[in-house]
Amino acid sequence: MNKLTIMESSVQKWNRIIAGERSDGGVIDCPPCRIFYMLVCIGCPIAEYTGHKFCKGSPYGRWHHHQIEAHDKLFKKIYCDECLQLATEMRDFMIEIVEHLKAKQDGK
Ligand SMILES: [Zn+2]
Repeated sequence: MNKLTIMESSVQKWNRIIAGERSDGGVIDCPPCRIFYMLVCIGCPIAEYTGHKFCKGSPYGRWHHHQIEAHDKLFKKIYCDECLQLATEMRDFMIEIVEHLKAKQDGK
């Protein structure tokens, strides 16, 4: 899998969360984390894009925080309008990175 494919599966993951078909398992089911996390988070396309490791600078922090503060449930999924809003932002951010990687690929 190349980075573009990985980020495309991440877009799909968030689309399914938005559709209410699944929950977010964080590191365990994040396609780039599964390959790049390894406790050090090196080489992940999200980290390269934001310039920060561990998803800092992405909407993920707000999603995670909201899930804990507002719902505190075992499964991180859509419970309210704000969940939907934050998951949509995360999905859109993944799309932004896909577009960025595509542009980089085309430029070569
Ligand atoms: Zn919520």
